[in-house]
Amino acid sequence: MNKPNILLIYTGGTIGMIEDFESKTLRPFDFSNIEEQVPELKKIAVNIETISFDKPIDSSDMNIAGWVKISKIIEDNYSKYDGFVILHGSDTMSYTASALSFMLKGLKKPVILTGSQLPIGTIRTDGKENLITAIEIAAAKENGKPIVPEVCIYFEYDLYRGNRTSKVNSEDFEAFQSYNYPKLAEAGVNIKFSKYAIHYRETEKLDIFTNFEENVAILKLFPGITQQAVRAMLSISGLKGLILETYGSGNAATISWFLDELRQAVNNGITILNVTQCQAGSVVQGKYDTSSAFEKIGILSGRDITTEAAITKMMYVLGKYKGETIKEKLNESLAGEMC
Ligand code: ASP
Repeated sequence: MNKPNILLIYTGGTIGMIEDFESKTLRPFDFSNIEEQVPELKKIAVNIETISFDKPIDSSDMNIAGWVKISKIIEDNYSKYDGFVILHGSDTMSYTASALSFMLKGLKKPVILTGSQLPIGTIRTDGKENLITAIEIAAAKENGKPIVPEVCIYFEYDLYRGNRTSKVNSEDFEAFQSYNYPKLAEAGVNIKFSKYAIHYRETEKLDIFTNFEENVAILKLFPGITQQAVRAMLSISGLKGLILETYGSGNAATISWFLDELRQAVNNGITILNVTQCQAGSVVQGKYDTSSAFEKIGILSGRDITTEAAITKMMYVLGKYKGETIKEKLNESLAGEMC
């Protein structure tokens, strides 16, 4: 039987670091020598090839150009490999997973992001397990077809749909959660896939779209926010899209200056999407009086989308569509990112 071919894409982050013996500082190691650091890789029944960013980055430096670079690597190597594993810092991993889920339209092969809280060169590292299982998941097939043809995050025994996740813990090995969507798999003695939750595409072809709109912003509300702060945000020159992080099921202050500022912004052509600051649950515009004004103003509901998926979806939709289609696409689930 032919072994599956997996491409390991190293972008940076803690996972690819080793501790310098003398200085005790962390430094990236040459990723083409990954098998020296993780000899277990030789025992997995897959062919692994690696490709690394020329200059690996801390994921805090990730941006649209970085996402385009990853997407192009996947596009250029799509026919050669059965699956892709992306090693990435955990800090912005949920944003990258969300962005890729929109960029890689029509994806039918696994793209599994993983990383670690401790460098792979340290004794108690979580990186080895994360890496090995991510590779096994990327290679997993049933009847010749990949079991998880989605952009996912694998971390600490759990596999999630990437665009449903948030990083919720900066210390625990269990760093990610997907509160509004079930896990796609759990790794114990066996890897148990929840096939009912996995999205299978039959006919589409990979069709990458990289022209994301960068003129977007996130405004997080808090009690006592001033008109100057709201106005300053909404009057950013060239602003096209705004994610408005509201309270609970999509609620916000009803004071007239606030609604007037938002109305003015929508009239000026800024697309506003209402998402909740809560980690779980959904925006339901009109449930309370405090959100019914949004409907009239033309602010859209992000329902149960995460902020990470909302901002990257806004970049994608504004980059790709015009006029009324923008609203239609924001209302639709494009890559399983919302209910
Ligand atoms: N700051 C690091 C990064 O996101 C943390 C990690 O690798 O998990 O790149």
